[in-house]
Amino acid sequence: MSDIFISKTQFLKGLQCLKSLYLHKYHPELMDEVSESREAVFQSGKDVGVLARGLYPGGVEILFDSNNFAKQLELTKAEIDGGAEIIYEPAFSHDGLFIKADIFKKGGRGWELYEIKNSTKIKAEAFHLEDVAFQYYVLKENGLSISKAYLVHINNQYERQGDIEVDKLFTINDVTKDVKDIQKKIKEHINIQKNILNGKMPKIDIDKYCSDPYDCEFLGHCWEHIPEESVFDLKGRGIKQFELYQKGIIHLKDVPIKLLPLAAQLQVDCALNKKCVMSKAALRDFLDSPWYPLYFLDFETFTSPIPLYDGTKPYQKIPFQYSIHYLEKEGSNLKHHAFLAVPNTDPRKEIAVNLIQQIPKNACVIVYNIGFEKSVLNSLKAWFPEYEDNIDGIINNLHDLMIPFKNQHFYSWQMKGSYSIKAVLPVLVPELSYEGMEISDGDMAMLAYKKMCESTDPSEIEGIRKALLEYCKLDTLGMVRILEALKNF
Ligand code: SF4
Repeated sequence: MSDIFISKTQFLKGLQCLKSLYLHKYHPELMDEVSESREAVFQSGKDVGVLARGLYPGGVEILFDSNNFAKQLELTKAEIDGGAEIIYEPAFSHDGLFIKADIFKKGGRGWELYEIKNSTKIKAEAFHLEDVAFQYYVLKENGLSISKAYLVHINNQYERQGDIEVDKLFTINDVTKDVKDIQKKIKEHINIQKNILNGKMPKIDIDKYCSDPYDCEFLGHCWEHIPEESVFDLKGRGIKQFELYQKGIIHLKDVPIKLLPLAAQLQVDCALNKKCVMSKAALRDFLDSPWYPLYFLDFETFTSPIPLYDGTKPYQKIPFQYSIHYLEKEGSNLKHHAFLAVPNTDPRKEIAVNLIQQIPKNACVIVYNIGFEKSVLNSLKAWFPEYEDNIDGIINNLHDLMIPFKNQHFYSWQMKGSYSIKAVLPVLVPELSYEGMEISDGDMAMLAYKKMCESTDPSEIEGIRKALLEYCKLDTLGMVRILEALKNF
């Protein structure tokens, strides 16, 4: 093996950004801390890969060992020489390149290569074809006859009933021709990457590729020079942040404000003058519509590529928790209901039943970002058609508290172009904040719930339970206080 070592993962990073490839190789100490959500995505990919082996059962696995690549190569060779028909994770190398294939299967006309993805389609922007093509290149250079190359991804139309049907959960795409067609490009890029790794750190500035298709692990290092109030805070359609940046316009104060869409003009004006704006008439219109009894509802959900319950599909949002604050009439005491699923149980029916018991038919139901809560309620309705009328009653009475902020009827410089409740709450209700909370957003709640399901430690489970209840409660209490604050203007 030559000195230059490029694994498939590194090759794909190099396609996204050559500086990232270089930093991975020579300056891993500059890498950002691995977030829990990134680890969860990684683990989910592994789980899906293992499940997909059920498509071709009975294979032999070559275990990954980051300290001993040579051993994996030896074991793979031994299995092939020994007549293995199906191999999971076989290792191959060629001239400083290294790959582990997901599934390698002997067909009538040669070996078949299967690359498993936990996405629901082939993603050109995520280099899925290049991924298989790189493997194909290394395999061919090993003198192996490859008859077919396949990309296997999740079929998001699959609905679980009973045991998982692996052949229905996955869609197998023959990409042999596409992969062969880009062999020249792959070879060229391998040479480019080898030259980069043999040279000095490439001078590459930040650009869209820093977060597309994936967040780079060196954002902290490469984005260090971006000031607190920058063009990257500008939100909204039609704003080309990188075009401004490349013209040397980095700080918000340097932005040619007249060239921006109106919403962004307001954002810049507020940011530079540290001010907030509101349209009292529009706020009044919004505030006139809710009625009593007044309910505030928020769900937490999780998703999984492998559907856990009958009637669910891959990546469908499954509610596991909700919080309701409510006022029966004007001036009455604020009351609260909370629901959090018992770990490893199917929470859907209990959620549907409790909701329709706790929310009266005539209640006005305030949510923040109606699309999300509506989609959860529609799923509950589809799973339990016997509650259709009651759930429709809730859906028809939903009011979206996000509207006045989305429409900039209230906007403060502190919101930095965002109208999420996390941005609005500290501005209007400074005494309530997500800061310092163990769980402070929906993704963290989902990860915490998954961790709670995996844990066998009662004190850990109790700690997560408390943190989840506290977080979801703040979401609905926050809505109550935001509405009060708007009424006081
Ligand atoms: S942060 Fe951007 S510029 Fe820096 S290595 Fe990553 S992709 Fe390249």
